[in-house]
Amino acid sequence: MKIRSLGVAVTLCTALCVPTFSVQAADLLIENVTLIDGTGTQPLAGASVLVKGDRIELVSPMPLKHEPGVEVVDGTGKFLMPGLIDSHIHIGANTITEQKMKEQHIDGVRALHSFLYLGITSVLDSGNVPDYIFGLREEEQTGKLISPRLFATGTNVNVAGGRGGGPIRPQGSPNSPIRLTGDWAADGALFDRYLKTRKPDVQKLQIDRHGVFDAPAPYMTVDQMSKVVRMANENGVRTMIHAASEEDFNESLEANVDQFAHMIRYAASDALLKRLATKKIPISTTTVVFAFIERLAYDPEFLNAPVWKNSVDPDVIAFQKNVERPGFIKNGMAPNFKATRHIILENSKKVHDLGGLLVAGTDRGWGQTLHMELELLHGAGIPLLDLTRIATLNAAIYLGKEKDLGSIQRGKYADLLLLNADPTQDAKNFAAIAAVYKSGQKIDFAKLDLPVNKRATKR
Ligand SMILES: [Zn+2]
Repeated sequence: MKIRSLGVAVTLCTALCVPTFSVQAADLLIENVTLIDGTGTQPLAGASVLVKGDRIELVSPMPLKHEPGVEVVDGTGKFLMPGLIDSHIHIGANTITEQKMKEQHIDGVRALHSFLYLGITSVLDSGNVPDYIFGLREEEQTGKLISPRLFATGTNVNVAGGRGGGPIRPQGSPNSPIRLTGDWAADGALFDRYLKTRKPDVQKLQIDRHGVFDAPAPYMTVDQMSKVVRMANENGVRTMIHAASEEDFNESLEANVDQFAHMIRYAASDALLKRLATKKIPISTTTVVFAFIERLAYDPEFLNAPVWKNSVDPDVIAFQKNVERPGFIKNGMAPNFKATRHIILENSKKVHDLGGLLVAGTDRGWGQTLHMELELLHGAGIPLLDLTRIATLNAAIYLGKEKDLGSIQRGKYADLLLLNADPTQDAKNFAAIAAVYKSGQKIDFAKLDLPVNKRATKR
């Protein structure tokens, strides 16, 4: 009801009514701020943004008159952009088990808090235990949890034995991944039931015929992928695919998959890069997963930086250093990624230059890695102003939520990031956080379950 009446106010108010617009108590007005609206247009100095309830009511290039009592934030010297969006995360980094879901709830909440702490107001979990992730999603949506907007794919669709990550649980559990058997009557019925009962925000498929070490593994046919995509789309759900090689990408395009969960990992032909760019098919970049593993192996001290200590549990950091690190060195992934990770960055830059639709994503589970991702993409030559869109509006398109999220425009949710320094001048400034707003409410950092607050309490 509230939203509907707001919608009317928004429709009736044209640009002409700006000078006399009445700002009332309980509204939030951020004034004299440099606006970076998420669409990729040049920053606008001296702007005012009015929030009414949970939505953006008005964006004005000039000051707005306001009555006493309205909450006014002086944006002088500050920069306002949409809250960042990470289009590919895994809360719990795929270690969630059905047995331990309850104990691991707290880990999930802490991970979500690390995103808010670093200015990320929406995330897409791209593969997890359905009961776990959709449970958290419900808590977020009903306001029980302080959290970024949590969107989730739940389980993925693959063939039995197919590669592509994700925990494999025994078939027959309500949390089993969907493994196609070749009998579409049975598989399709199972998948249709999954879509209708779990309501994933996006459906993930997986195809990866080569893997990191070019060992053969079974993978879906174009026909199988097409059927899955069609059924998801008929249920109003977009599809994303974990694909890695040129062949994987070409066949995914033939099957009309809506978007990609990663950039092409191997050297790619100009024809494919051009095809992806021309179709403007959204691609989550996820270059940081390679860089993160490389750094963990060869420069693990980066995890001692204050931002990591403040936003990630010491136990989790210790697990990365003491368990994950030797594992990645031993299994050869670290040296492989060190040698090849430039390729995924080069592919990202090329698709961007050709006019493609890149979307910021990390394939990790902590807020700080999105900032690493943006620095990597900028280091590959992608302009910072373009990154302000890649990490906001493009990601909202990826979620299928661009009508509500991703830019500072009238009628959208007031998910906002107020910065003390200009992110179009330095990638590090995306983390120069002054305040984070979700639905027009300022996030109280003191309420986040993060090490930074525990240390403060002890003192
Ligand atoms: Zn992933």
